[in-house]
Amino acid sequence: MTYVITSACVDVKHKACAAECPVDCIYEGDRTMYINAEECVDCGACRLLCEVDAIFYEDDLPDSERAFLADNAAFFGEVLPGRQAPLGAPGGAAGTGPLGADTPFVTALPRQ
Ligand code: SF4
Ligand code: SF4
Repeated sequence: MTYVITSACVDVKHKACAAECPVDCIYEGDRTMYINAEECVDCGACRLLCEVDAIFYEDDLPDSERAFLADNAAFFGEVLPGRQAPLGAPGGAAGTGPLGADTPFVTALPRQ
């Protein structure tokens, strides 16, 4: 199980959540942030900090946001534009820094 970042973060991305994640598993894409499900310890701290209510526990995702579960996973499991290999579970966003890329799903979303 994991927490998932959804549509309300796209083009907002003020990163309050990432600063408080105890395992540093919230990674910065170009237009949004992504939670690494393999690294998330389900503490819920990020959800409380998100002013736009973009973060949901996997089981609580509204139907309209459910696609973001697979999309957050795709950010780590598929090869992003400009990279040679999937990110996988890199062990903390401090080590990767901003990735400067998004999944095709997020890239295709209209600007907010
Ligand atoms: S706190 Fe919410 S809006 Fe801000 S970066 Fe995190 S998920 Fe996105
Ligand atoms: S639920 Fe906790 S561990 Fe998971 S992303 Fe949010 S703050 Fe990080």
